[in-house]
Amino acid sequence: MKQFFVTLVVFALLLCSSTAPAEKIKNLKKMEKQQPSNPYYSRTDTAKLNLPDAVWKKVLSPEVYATARQKKTELSFTGKFWDYTGKGTYYCAACGNALFRSDAKFASTCGWPSFFEVVRKGSVTYLPDRSYGMVRNEVLCGRCGAHLGHLFDDGPPPTGKRFCMNSVVLDFVPDK
Ligand SMILES: [Zn+2]
Repeated sequence: MKQFFVTLVVFALLLCSSTAPAEKIKNLKKMEKQQPSNPYYSRTDTAKLNLPDAVWKKVLSPEVYATARQKKTELSFTGKFWDYTGKGTYYCAACGNALFRSDAKFASTCGWPSFFEVVRKGSVTYLPDRSYGMVRNEVLCGRCGAHLGHLFDDGPPPTGKRFCMNSVVLDFVPDK
């Protein structure tokens, strides 16, 4: 009976609160789900990983795999981080490599999370991408080679760069 009341109170609290916290809970749950049993995921190990897609397919969720290994671009304004303003660090969702600090994130109108600089030199690598009749710089994780997004030259100062990322391959850890 007591448990029933606790559940009722929790439910009532959830109902009373604005949609923002409920949304936050949903997002956090989504973030937890993002990591199935992945033995290659580490936020401290920076040793390069050179694994075939068949291995990644087993350890990544289908959503992360589709972007990280098959270069799928998520629809703009749909990812969980495009307008997220929490303070913390963004890591590669495939391997845990540190990529961006929230201080380098800026409000971009493109609908994807955008940053003007990486957390350290070598966090990412670049490849010319000539798909869709455009010449773009593809951005890959410097540790595992996951596709993260693209780099453009229309970002804000001080770098003028815009790292246009897919939320699904980012893993956010808030500052303590
Ligand atoms: Zn990675």
